[in-house]
Amino acid sequence: MRILATGGAGYVGSAMVRLLVSRGFEVTVYDNLSKGFRAAVPADCLIEGDLAEGDKLRRVLKEHRIEVVAHFAGSITVGESMVNPRHYYRNNIGNSLVLLEAMQVSQVEKIIFSSTATVYAPVSQGVLTEESPLGPANPYAVSKYTIERMIEDFAAANGWSYVLLRYFNACGASSDGRYGEAHDPETHLIPQVLQAALGQREKISIFGADYDTPDGTCIRDYVHVDDLAEAHVLALKAVEAGKSYTYNVGTGTGNSVLEVIRAAEEVVGGKIPTEITGRRPGDTSRLVAGSERIKREWGWQPKYQTLTEIIETAWRWHREHPNGYQEKN
Ligand code: UDP
Repeated sequence: MRILATGGAGYVGSAMVRLLVSRGFEVTVYDNLSKGFRAAVPADCLIEGDLAEGDKLRRVLKEHRIEVVAHFAGSITVGESMVNPRHYYRNNIGNSLVLLEAMQVSQVEKIIFSSTATVYAPVSQGVLTEESPLGPANPYAVSKYTIERMIEDFAAANGWSYVLLRYFNACGASSDGRYGEAHDPETHLIPQVLQAALGQREKISIFGADYDTPDGTCIRDYVHVDDLAEAHVLALKAVEAGKSYTYNVGTGTGNSVLEVIRAAEEVVGGKIPTEITGRRPGDTSRLVAGSERIKREWGWQPKYQTLTEIIETAWRWHREHPNGYQEKN
C-alpha cells in the first residue's frame, strides 16, 4: 500500500511514518517543515511542500501512485486558535479542502484523519464515547470538526472510505530516546514540565485550579505517541478493506495537571516549581477517552498504561536532546 503522510515530519505523523517504514510500508511524507523536522523521518521519504500548493500535491499523488492519505498536517494549539482563529480556518480547513480536491481529481479514495477529542461537547464527568454529543468549543476544535464533516461528505459523494481517529493528549517519546516532542514555542504540559526539570524554564504555570475536578485542575487522557502510531497501522488495514470508521484513541484514564506534575517529579527525582495562574481560554475541564470501540473492534491496546511509563520515555528524550532536533531543517 502506498501512503502519503501530510504533516508526516511532525510529532505524531513522524511516529507513524517511522513505524510504517520499519514494517516495510511505502510512505511518502509531504510536509512544509513549518513545525515538523527533517531529522524526524528517513530522508528519502520526505517531499517538502505545502498543502496550499494544490498543483504540487496532485503531482505528488500521481507520481507516487498514492492509494491512501494519512492527514496529520494542521495547527494544533487551542490557545493560539482563540487569538488567531483566521489561521485555523485557513491552515486547517482551507488546506484540507485543497487536499480533498486533489484526492478527488487524482482518484485517491482512502483517507485517515488526525482528529481530536475536542470535537465533543465539554463534559464534567465520565468518559467521552463516540456516541457523546459533539460540540467543539474553540476554533481549533471547530476546524477539526469541520474537516471531519468534509471528509464524510466527500466520502459519501465519491464512494471513498475513511478513518477518523480522535486523539486524546499525545505524549511521550520513542523508547530508544531518539525521537520525541519538540514544538516552538512549546505549549504542551509534559514537555514544559520536563524543561522546568532541566532548568530550561523557571516554573510551570498551572492554568486554573478552580475547575470542577477533584483537585481543581484540568483532567486529560495522556496517550503515548507510539500507541497512536499503532492505531494508524490498524486504520490502514481497515481502510484498505474499504470500510469507514470513527474511533477515539486514548487510554481511558484521566490525569489532572497536578498529577502530571507529581508523576514527573517522581520520574526526574526532584521538585518542579509551579505557580497557579488563571484559566487558559478555550480549555475544557475534562477530556477522557472511552476507547472501547477501537479495542473491541480492532484489538488496539495501549502498550503504555501509566503516566509514569510515558513520562519516563519523554524524560529520556528531553535529557538526551535538551535542544530538541538541533539540526533545525
Ligand atoms: N497546562 C497547564 N500549564 C501549561 C500547559 C498546559 O496547566 O503550561 C494544562 C492545560 O490547561 C490542559 C493540560 O495542561 O489542561 C494539557 O494541556 P496541553 O497544552 O498539553 O494539551 P491540550 O489538552 O491543550 O491539547
